[in-house]
Amino acid sequence: MPVEDRLYIGGDWVAPEGTGVIEVFSPATEEKVGQVPEGTTADIDKAVAAARTAFDAGEWTRMAPEERAQLLSSLSATIQARADEIARLITNENGSPYSWGIMGQVFASTMVADFYTGLAKEYTFSEERVGTMGNKALVRKLPVGVVGGIVPWNVPLFTTMLKLAPAMVAGATMVLKPAPETPLDAQVLAEIAHEVGIPAGVLNIVPAGREVGEHLVTHPDVDKIAFTGSTAAGRKIAALCGERLRRVTLELGGKSASIILDDADLSQVVPALVPAGTMNNGQACVAQTRILASRDRYDEVVDAIAEAVGNLKVGDPLDPETEIGPLTAERQRDRVEGYLASGREEGAKVVVGGGRPAGQPKGWFVEPTVFSGVKNSMRIAQEEIFGPVLSVIPYDDVDDAVAIANDSDYGLSGSVYGADVDTATEIAGRVRTGTTAVNGFMLEFGCPFGGFKGSGLGRELGPEGLEAYLELQSVSLPA
Ligand code: NAD
Repeated sequence: MPVEDRLYIGGDWVAPEGTGVIEVFSPATEEKVGQVPEGTTADIDKAVAAARTAFDAGEWTRMAPEERAQLLSSLSATIQARADEIARLITNENGSPYSWGIMGQVFASTMVADFYTGLAKEYTFSEERVGTMGNKALVRKLPVGVVGGIVPWNVPLFTTMLKLAPAMVAGATMVLKPAPETPLDAQVLAEIAHEVGIPAGVLNIVPAGREVGEHLVTHPDVDKIAFTGSTAAGRKIAALCGERLRRVTLELGGKSASIILDDADLSQVVPALVPAGTMNNGQACVAQTRILASRDRYDEVVDAIAEAVGNLKVGDPLDPETEIGPLTAERQRDRVEGYLASGREEGAKVVVGGGRPAGQPKGWFVEPTVFSGVKNSMRIAQEEIFGPVLSVIPYDDVDDAVAIANDSDYGLSGSVYGADVDTATEIAGRVRTGTTAVNGFMLEFGCPFGGFKGSGLGRELGPEGLEAYLELQSVSLPA
């Protein structure tokens, strides 16, 4: 069991300023699986000072982007070499099925790192322009400075890499605050960063809760906050950053819709759509939990989805056969059960699931569930449940389907399924969402990822995700 009594700050393992600890419990066995020090505001101060010194001293910022990317590449290779261990660790922290975790938690993270390693070679960090008086001018893209990275528990390493990889290529430095549920994989990241020779102070890690996180957000020596988490916390952080004119990127919640057109082949739709709704036990911001089916094919769609969801293998998340593990925390299960009750009270019908699975005396499990007869105004259709709960909503025609998809406070992901790709692509363009897909769902690491509306501000991934860590400087040169 990993038990760490020091924090990684300034390129060294240092004693914490406080005496508190964060204990991590397996969501499957409810047994303790690790422990780290609980960071305090004084630890954040120390970490920010280390990140500031590393940034201001200039060695890191003066390195060529390719040199920094070389370190990122080594980081990625070492994570890959320890993929099995890290996937198991994350499964023990948050209950993510190992079968999904190896790809969704670990390889997805290294693919992001590898994308930015490649981009560093071709991205233009300085370009010459013709000045107003015919003189020469330069447009430079400079690192944003010290970044506070705040990440959630559901995909901890991946959401970290979405920030760390472009920050490193840009030449920024970072204080990372992992969620208290998942501090153990961040300790491994620190070990690897140290081993591959990332310079002191470039990455500092302080696991802690909200109040200490807020100290990082408001710290005067931080230049930018990169946050992934709930929309409620995102609003608070945006307000705090707004008061300080601090740069901020927010990746927040979602309640995404999959539109099944009438000509879609259900035998192809269902195997893509069910994992897109239930991946990571439904604890995914991009989960497509509103399934929109025409009234003509409604019963057929409900039956096909219910059959597939009913066949999902629920159980020990470390078993490679398991498709649905426990929810991350007991309070998370309470929350999901509250939504199961709310759906029933508002008149939706449970077609499959709806309770706790039999044969799981320990662990925070809920059955994968499908509701039919769902109206888009119901809470189960409007609010992010963050559990394996799908709602099938009927629509009258394509315009109605688009209106229902857009009738949401969120706009993070989505998909359209249909026989004609051009038609489906056109319809996808009418849905107000930052990421969408046709006949499947995939995050494209070379393309920007982020939300419309309450799903966030700014973008990660793609060259746009690097630009979120750059400041523009225009230099006018003599003629
Ligand atoms: P959360 O907002 O409660 O916490 C996320 C992180 O922010 C944690 O590290 C937490 O300690 C910290 N935090 C919370 N309030 C803070 C504050 N006021 N100041 C500083 N730090 C603060 O979210 P959660 O429950 O841990 O994660 C689930 C949420 O994350 C869901 O809403 C999910 O959709 C969202 N999410 C979004 C994406 C995305 O890319 N859009 C990806 C993964 C998860």
